[in-house]
Amino acid sequence: MIFSPPHLNNLHLRYYPDPILRQKAKPVEIVNSGIATLAELMGDIMIKSSGIGLAAPQIGMPLRMFVFSLTGKPEDIEVLINPELSNLQGTSEIEEGCLSLPGIRAKVRRPAACTVTALNLDGNQFVTDAVDLAATVIQHEFDHLDGTLFIDRLNAVSRLSCRKALKQLERDFQE
Ligand code: ZN
Repeated sequence: MIFSPPHLNNLHLRYYPDPILRQKAKPVEIVNSGIATLAELMGDIMIKSSGIGLAAPQIGMPLRMFVFSLTGKPEDIEVLINPELSNLQGTSEIEEGCLSLPGIRAKVRRPAACTVTALNLDGNQFVTDAVDLAATVIQHEFDHLDGTLFIDRLNAVSRLSCRKALKQLERDFQE
C-alpha cells in the first residue's frame, strides 16, 4: 500500500470494537515522507495518550508499521515498518493494556524473547533481539497488524474478569 499524506487528516485513536482493529494490515510498499509523517503522528498520539506502543491500525491506517517507547518518552521512540518476528523463545507473563481498550489490563502469556526484522524510516532493514517488556510490546504491536488484540490471548479466568469492561466498550462504541 502506497501511503499518501492527505489521509493524515482525521486520524485518531480507534477503540474496541472498531472493525478496523480486526483487519489484516498491508505492507508499506515505499518508505516515503508520508510514512515519516505518519510515524511522527503515531508517536505524538502514543505519548499524549501515555502509551508505550501504537500500531498504525489503531489510528485507522491499515499499514504494517508500529511505534513504541519503553520509557514512554518521545526521545526513546522506535519505528518499525513491515516487521517480521522470529526466534520466539521462552515464556513470560506480563500485565498488558492497550490504548484501544481503555480501562482493561490483564496478564498475557507470550514468548519471553523474540527477534524482530523491520525497516526503519530510511527504508533500511535492521534486526534486533528483544526480551521481557520489549519482547512483549513488540509482540503486542505486531499482533495489531494481523487484527489480533491482547484480549484474544487471555486465559478463561482473565477473560471472564474483563467481560464487563468489554461489554461497556461495546456499548460506548454503538453510541
Ligand atoms: Zn494495543
